[in-house]
Amino acid sequence: MSESLEDLLRRRLELGPITVADYMRLALGHPTLGYYRTRDPLGGVPDSAAGAVPSALPAVAGAVAGGDFVTAPECSQMFGELLGLWSAHVWGLLGQPDPIGFVELGPGRGTLMADALRAVRLVAPGFHAALRVHLVETSPVLRTRQAKALEGEAVEWHERLTDLPPGPFILLANEFLDALPIHQLVKREGQWRERQVGLTEAGDFGFQIGKTASPLARLLTPEVAQAPETSIAEVSPTIRGTVAAISRRLAHYGGAALLIDYGYAEAAAGDSLQAVRRHQYHPVLQDPGEADLTAHVDFSAVGAAARMSGVDVHGPIEQGAFLTRLGILERAQRLVRDADAAKAHDLVEGMHRLIAPDRMGSLFKVIGLGPVGLSALPGFVS
Ligand code: SAH
Repeated sequence: MSESLEDLLRRRLELGPITVADYMRLALGHPTLGYYRTRDPLGGVPDSAAGAVPSALPAVAGAVAGGDFVTAPECSQMFGELLGLWSAHVWGLLGQPDPIGFVELGPGRGTLMADALRAVRLVAPGFHAALRVHLVETSPVLRTRQAKALEGEAVEWHERLTDLPPGPFILLANEFLDALPIHQLVKREGQWRERQVGLTEAGDFGFQIGKTASPLARLLTPEVAQAPETSIAEVSPTIRGTVAAISRRLAHYGGAALLIDYGYAEAAAGDSLQAVRRHQYHPVLQDPGEADLTAHVDFSAVGAAARMSGVDVHGPIEQGAFLTRLGILERAQRLVRDADAAKAHDLVEGMHRLIAPDRMGSLFKVIGLGPVGLSALPGFVS
């Protein structure tokens, strides 16, 4: 039988512990066995599902169909539609560059992009004619789903951000950053040391702590650095590097970006590493490659990386407030008018999931990146 990811990791850990970041990188991104390489992890919401829960939180049993987690575009068509209209509006603010890249990072099933294109084709045909769709996706399984969702559209796929062609672009990324590797540091004897994954005496996977101070400690804010003994703090050079790369391209070619994820607006100590499988939390070191593994995004670090790379930062603000400002209530009313009772129920339930503070409305944050001096991006001003 071929080697499982768990066997492969065990062989690696026999040589010595690895960082949490390397563990995430392998569990999610191993070229043949990684979680995102081998499956479609997204669940759907069945018609008239009541009480289903936000992405990455345990589900009420039976409320969601299949997969491991549900994302905003899979909850409601209005999510992609409103982001499409946001993009069309921003295209106008940028002076209607033609052509313009319309980029999505980690497009999942392609639902967000399909909903966005449907909306702009109707409402902003000029933008629709000018845009060129570019999807950055590593998963062959999800690329196939995306091709199906976007049948009839001209789409180019790329393995990584740096493969995008030159030129201005508008970029969307929903629940992309949370899948990128983070390092965890633990305060021990007054030093911030790397939290590692190694083998316990019994031969199981377990957390360990490095013996010396980590050079990554310099990335902690002064407030977080002062956290008490045994605290855990998270830093992600990969997220900072990704945001910096997006921002440098934006500063060079022009354009704007919208990054949406669950996370916190202000840096804080804490352990947010979590695994989710079939809509339930899962022990983080169990079944590597079979469960989704994510961390909450530190939006203060995202904003700082973007600012340092030459763009203006808008937000972060909560998803509920952002979608409300973009007009989700009015859009829902319009759609409900033409819907039968079951569809109307789904529309209202979907909207509720996206904006209610106890669902996805508060935990999820939105941050906008735009050219220096452009006073406002839609959704960030009241
Ligand atoms: N945005 C989608 C899917 C979120 S799941 C939605 O909201 O439904 C994360 C997505 O990012 C998946 O499409 C996954 O395959 C992709 N992904 C994860 N790591 C990636 C990486 N390093 N490069 C490109 N895509 C990645």
